[in-house]
Amino acid sequence: MIDFHCHLELYKDPLAEAKRCAAKKMDVLSVGTTPSAFRGTRRMAQGCPTIRTALGFHPHLAAQRMSELETFDMLLSETAYVGEVGLDGAPEHRKTWDAQIKVFRHILRSCEAAGGRVISIHSRRAASDVLSLLEEEPGSGTPIFHWFSGSPRELEKAVELGAWFSVGPSMLRSKRGRDLAARMPKARVLTETDGPFAMVQDRALLPGEVGDAFFKLAQIWNCETKEALSTVRSNLKTLENSISPP
Ligand code: MN
Repeated sequence: MIDFHCHLELYKDPLAEAKRCAAKKMDVLSVGTTPSAFRGTRRMAQGCPTIRTALGFHPHLAAQRMSELETFDMLLSETAYVGEVGLDGAPEHRKTWDAQIKVFRHILRSCEAAGGRVISIHSRRAASDVLSLLEEEPGSGTPIFHWFSGSPRELEKAVELGAWFSVGPSMLRSKRGRDLAARMPKARVLTETDGPFAMVQDRALLPGEVGDAFFKLAQIWNCETKEALSTVRSNLKTLENSISPP
């Protein structure tokens, strides 16, 4: 299984979850929310080679943690993966908009200066703004839009810019989410849980609990579930072969 956007550190027992993922050889991108938490989060996955730890700076914390940009830059050489980063244009986050832009732009510039990174991106109600900033920094690396919820036109633009997408059971439960997934290039789709934020039937998805996403992708791609799984597996291989270690 492949879970390329999961907040491992936010589960009640991250070590146990990490061990469970490792035992099942689940490919996980463990995303973070603040630079200062990065090393602790990475430590939780020590001895679990299928868990990659990303350096994150969540847009919801951009204003409050602005001073951690220095920490971000210092740690960037330690990982090939950045996330969760991005912008959130929902009304309740509008008051921190300028700080969000400042932080995200800084991050993209740092990634560019470092030779590019794989970047897991939050773009809720901000897809166009995220795209503009990515366009400004074309050398920042490979963006992966996590739980993309923009318009079909914005999706098209993201595809033109070379973006990838990670989709999960929660996103694919809605018709809108499935319609967007159907427009994504099959060769640039990965799966994710966004656990423990994403829920199914009133409980948080567990790391790696992406089975339902493969079931839905198989319907969208009109293939067997196991074929959808092998497509996503080969996509991940392609992505990771394209990156040079920091
Ligand atoms: Mn997330």
